Amino acid sequence: MSARLYLVVPCYNEQEVLSYTASTLEGKLNALIQAQLISPESRIVFVDDGSKDDTWNIICKLHEDNDIFAGLKLSRNRGHQNALLAGLLEVKDRCDVTISMDADLQDDVDVIDSFIEKYYEGFEIIYGVRGDRKSDTTVKRGMAELFYNMMTNMGVETIFNHADCRLMSQRSLEALSEFKEVNLFLRGMVPLIGFKSCTVEYSRLPRYAGTSKYPFKKMLQLALNGITSFSVTPLRIVTVTGSIIFTLSVLSLVVLLVLALLRLDLTLSLAWVIASNWTVCGIMMTSLGVVGEYIGKIFEESKHRPRYIVDEFIIK
Ligand code: UDP
Ligand code: MG
Repeated sequence: MSARLYLVVPCYNEQEVLSYTASTLEGKLNALIQAQLISPESRIVFVDDGSKDDTWNIICKLHEDNDIFAGLKLSRNRGHQNALLAGLLEVKDRCDVTISMDADLQDDVDVIDSFIEKYYEGFEIIYGVRGDRKSDTTVKRGMAELFYNMMTNMGVETIFNHADCRLMSQRSLEALSEFKEVNLFLRGMVPLIGFKSCTVEYSRLPRYAGTSKYPFKKMLQLALNGITSFSVTPLRIVTVTGSIIFTLSVLSLVVLLVLALLRLDLTLSLAWVIASNWTVCGIMMTSLGVVGEYIGKIFEESKHRPRYIVDEFIIK
């Protein structure tokens, strides 16, 4: 029997692109249904992440006109990661397999065919990997590469050049629902599930319409969240830095003692004393900040607040 596939598409203020995205994805799904590769009960679920424009009205209209479209409206904007998780968890009991994609169609829709092919070969998690990122700016590409390398050096398992375009089987979604953290970094969480997985390469296209909803600040936040949620290496760096400074200061004390015993000149330049004081102060403040980041995380996690709240779910 062919699998019930649900496409999960988070949308935030995507009115410019939504109709085009809907018709492209519908075409793709219908072709797969006709080829009997997926079930006719497959759906395209748009998750409205608290959009302020006409996004939800467009989703409602699409749903009214065609059963293939469904809509999940969150009570407010929670960010891409939360919106995606909401979509995946809310549909997991209705389908056999999900594929997550961005609403701007930057993830080439033809990757869906390769995903389905690999799914029938027995893979439960399939990561879409951006083979060609020419459409991203040099800064974005550079930042992304720096980030993946940093994560790897810190011992975090992430898939190079994979964002959130991936296929997940019902069983892996069930496993994902066991992860209770509120600070979400899905591309770090999913590899922890561990079921049989593989990667599929696709080209990253330019955004079809509208503007990016991921400004530099949000990108940096996601990267920092990824690091502090998955690695304690920054804390170790603090410890090592502290130990190095301590060792150096003990050595300089010994030198001073020897100089004193030999009755040599002990006058030190005042500027040097002030400069080293500021340096150590700076290192201490930064270290406090790093430790603070982790305490902040514990604070947020300990409240167990809901990761999203559903306002409306329209599905036939
Ligand atoms: N998105 C979302 N909530 C947000 C920001 C973005 O659901 O708060 C969605 C957005 O509509 C899109 C996807 O996340 O479907 C990726 O966003 P975008 O294409 O703007 O990011 P970029 O490709 O520029 O990194
Ligand atoms: Mg995009």
